Amino acid sequence: SVPRPQMEQLFPRDVFIAVKTTKKFHRSRLDLLMDTWISRNKEMTFIFTDGEDEVLKQHTGNVINTNCSAAHSRQALSCKMAVEYDKFIESGRKWFCHVDDDNYVNVPMLVKLLSSYPHTQDVYIGKPSLDRPIQATERISENKMRPVHFWFATGGAGFCISRGLALKMSPWASGGHFMNTAEKIRLPDDCTIGYIIESVLGVRLIRSNLFHSHLENLQQVPKSELHKQVTLSYGMFENKRNSIHMKGAFSVEADPSRFRSIHCLLYPDTPWCPRNVVY
Ligand code: UDP
Ligand code: MN
Repeated sequence: SVPRPQMEQLFPRDVFIAVKTTKKFHRSRLDLLMDTWISRNKEMTFIFTDGEDEVLKQHTGNVINTNCSAAHSRQALSCKMAVEYDKFIESGRKWFCHVDDDNYVNVPMLVKLLSSYPHTQDVYIGKPSLDRPIQATERISENKMRPVHFWFATGGAGFCISRGLALKMSPWASGGHFMNTAEKIRLPDDCTIGYIIESVLGVRLIRSNLFHSHLENLQQVPKSELHKQVTLSYGMFENKRNSIHMKGAFSVEADPSRFRSIHCLLYPDTPWCPRNVVY
């Protein structure tokens, strides 16, 4: 495809990256992100969690304890997304991006992608998790329902929303409204975002293949294309371990997520990256 021209220069203070995590993953997942992509992008990155952690606070001032329940319930996850949204609006920044704590964000590519769109217009960009719109039932009132269908960007691959669009979402997303909206369709937080944008506001999701979750086969991302991707992930897919396939600075045993190897490929000057490795 033809590259889009840069529309406006973006600075670190223009982008708000919300990382969703939970206390039990601070050591096993978040420390890896702190060591890799977050360490170079602390001004942009905000961590949304559910428990106090002094160790984490020593590394970044941008830790937000949502006071949401630490359960993996629909309500608890919607509670976190609601706080992410409110903090973004409060920040005054131009772009909101959400990622999970098993995402690697290639921030220069993210910024490049965002700078090709106007933040004042309606922009919702990410990767759909299904190959067709999701079918849901909207509760209009106590005993009135109607079927709705809409596309949504999978939260596990990360997605971004322009400030212009985020402001329009406010009646359904701000304060306690997000939780109420989520209850109307009884779907997870990322679906609720898609519902507000596509179904309520009539704005279409822009699909990008540069966002990746572990719900796709990550082995299919070629190493030669790694530096162009916006997000990467690792985890389980069809009951198998799923991660980026690359021979890098570290073995699969030492670096099962491959995030350290990816980070050394992108930033070979990192102090803990081995020297004289031919990538
Ligand atoms: N998560 C959370 N609370 C929980 C469990 C998970 O906030 O009780 C977060 C987790 O930190 C991650 C996201 O939800 O950012 C998705 O969790 P996970 O990767 O474990 O599950 P998946 O849905 O990808 O299988
Ligand atoms: Mn995951």
